Amino acid sequence: MYHNISSKFELSFRSVSSNLLKKHLKLLKNKGFNNITKLDLIKGGLFDNKKSVFITFDDAYEGVYYSALPVMEEFGFSAAVFIPAGYIGKFNEWDFTPFSRLRHMDKKMLINLSKNGWVVGAHGSTHTDLRKCSNGCLRREICDSKKKIEDIIGEEVFLFAYPFGLYNEKVIDMVKNCGYKYAFATANGITNNRYAISRMALYFIDASPIPLLNDKYCRLYLFRNRIISSLSALTPIYKKYINHLW
Ligand SMILES: [Zn+2]
Repeated sequence: MYHNISSKFELSFRSVSSNLLKKHLKLLKNKGFNNITKLDLIKGGLFDNKKSVFITFDDAYEGVYYSALPVMEEFGFSAAVFIPAGYIGKFNEWDFTPFSRLRHMDKKMLINLSKNGWVVGAHGSTHTDLRKCSNGCLRREICDSKKKIEDIIGEEVFLFAYPFGLYNEKVIDMVKNCGYKYAFATANGITNNRYAISRMALYFIDASPIPLLNDKYCRLYLFRNRIISSLSALTPIYKKYINHLW
């Protein structure tokens, strides 16, 4: 799981440079990892092959379109982006990136990605903690966002990623009811549960993702990522007091 990808240095914990992404992809290729495609997912084969990888970009920043798409194509990889339906073409309001503001992909970019074999998934509507939502709110965030993105890309939206990776049973039930095939958590996910798929986040500090491919180090990574994820609990404070300063 990545967030933003940028071709220049960006003071953001969630931005990975396109050079580093290239390094990661090269390593995956050299180690013989297969890329899971949109078709594999439609056929239900996410967990079929142990030596396969599915790359996702949360929040669908336009940096991914400009700086990740060309690199991914170079290595023959496709991926999924998760767009918060209420932020299509708008500036981000929750990631802390002083001196610059990240923008989310617009309709055209999402359509192009989808045509290029990428999967466009939903990521709620307002990027809120869904565990705190009423039934009506869950319906808007999970079902309405699906419909809105489907109307744009003209394809079924069947992947969902929980904002901040946060979910509970009630949230999962709504995801199922709205007709999604898979839903993604972060380090708090459960292996082999198609509605709370565990993902490993990569940050600019991950000069080499080799430990990720090694079971022994994987636990350490999970622990680190849990700590980083828990920092997102600070988002409401950031939104309220800091964000408007930039
Ligand atoms: Zn997000």
